[in-house]
Amino acid sequence: MGFRLANISGRASLVEDDNYYDLEVISDGEFNSNPSDALQNQNRMKQLNGQLSKMEPTGVINDSELGPPVSSSANCYAVGLNYKNHAEESGLEIPDVPMIFTKHTSCLVGPCATIEMRSDAVDYEAELVAVIGKTGKDIKKEDAWDHVAGLCVGQDISDRGVQFSTKNLPQFNLGKSFDTFGPIGPFLVSPDELPNKDGLEIECLVNDEVRQKDNTNDLIFDIPFIICYLSEIVTLNVGDVIFTGTPGGVGVMEGKFLKEGDILTTRIEGLGSLRNECKRIADRSLTEED
Ligand code: ZN
Repeated sequence: MGFRLANISGRASLVEDDNYYDLEVISDGEFNSNPSDALQNQNRMKQLNGQLSKMEPTGVINDSELGPPVSSSANCYAVGLNYKNHAEESGLEIPDVPMIFTKHTSCLVGPCATIEMRSDAVDYEAELVAVIGKTGKDIKKEDAWDHVAGLCVGQDISDRGVQFSTKNLPQFNLGKSFDTFGPIGPFLVSPDELPNKDGLEIECLVNDEVRQKDNTNDLIFDIPFIICYLSEIVTLNVGDVIFTGTPGGVGVMEGKFLKEGDILTTRIEGLGSLRNECKRIADRSLTEED
């Protein structure tokens, strides 16, 4: 028995079906309201989760109240070119080692947040996201899942203009870190809630058109490999977020970028879905041409 952790109006809550249970309330103050702090005591969260049927729900989930299921994360890592079909469509060789970059944690938003665009070159990337639940350094592949608090759906939104603006060396971090460029959620689902955590269907739709469809068993570097690789370099801390890469079908290949009013839907089997409306809020004043 695991848990589904949600951030409801900034408060850590457990989720069962359409109901949520405020963690501070149902634990009589043993937990505080911070969703990231809740990860420090996952065993107790699992115990409480097993007792939800005997408790009074705090309320019914309203999607507009959902925030990112982890907040105050220290670091957010992401993997480029981690599906064979995406490496191929990019015209690049399948990498021998994971290509890691970072997204600034300030870009992380909830599952129904509006995506605020400042150019006509903003793109989607559906991704499986892992959140660290146990601090570690030099984590072995066989121990890696013990360090994962849960999985959720993510969108690695990218402004391709900024990402590839510097001619010879791309600047992935800024191009992928505009405010609102990291929707995650809807809940953080502990791995033991998923019967087949290594093979989850993943898809991305723009309005009603399916743009990406794959299975996470196609990852070139799986979650244990990424955790092992990263943790030899940096200590992974509770609440750290890892975007694991996107399958083929991203918009930049055909010039199909996100437009004002588009509805971006991102689903992963067993984890739920994100639904993000795209808004063109401004133009950038300094562009690549200036
Ligand atoms: Zn990505």
